[in-house]
Amino acid sequence: MNTLTVSVVTPDGPVLEDTFEMVSCKAESGELGILPGHIPLVAPLSISSVRLKGPNPQRSAVSGGFLEVRPDKVTILAQSAELPDEIDLERARAAKERAERRLQAKQDEIDFRRAEYALKRALNRIEVVEEK
Ligand code: ATP
Repeated sequence: MNTLTVSVVTPDGPVLEDTFEMVSCKAESGELGILPGHIPLVAPLSISSVRLKGPNPQRSAVSGGFLEVRPDKVTILAQSAELPDEIDLERARAAKERAERRLQAKQDEIDFRRAEYALKRALNRIEVVEEK
């Protein structure tokens, strides 16, 4: 067993399902590198990029959710997930600027936290498009 079936799904539907040799992602507890045969695991994911390695590598911007690992399969249940080609860079840049303006404005704790998360989502999307 030297490949893993990886499936990324969101409430809007499947984003990707294919086989890869390794999954690198960021759980809330830290970076994870998952190879075939990994022990079963469920972990909350950070707003981050998921990198899928193999002959046809792929990456996706995920906005939190859960990762479920089984020895031959990784399932990512994300609140939202986009492949680089699906990301509208102008929209992400506008979201980043909006969030930055909100963070600078005086406002309550909840709005501040929401703006912080919006900024993280926007920066993550921009990074996933711009990284090579
Ligand atoms: P925005 O303020 O631009 O809506 P957001 O971070 O609030 O950004 P989400 O709530 O995370 O957006 O996502 C809502 C839906 O829009 C999801 O289906 C997500 O995949 C999609 N989406 C969000 N931003 C982008 C983008 N820049 N390019 C493509 N799809 C996006």
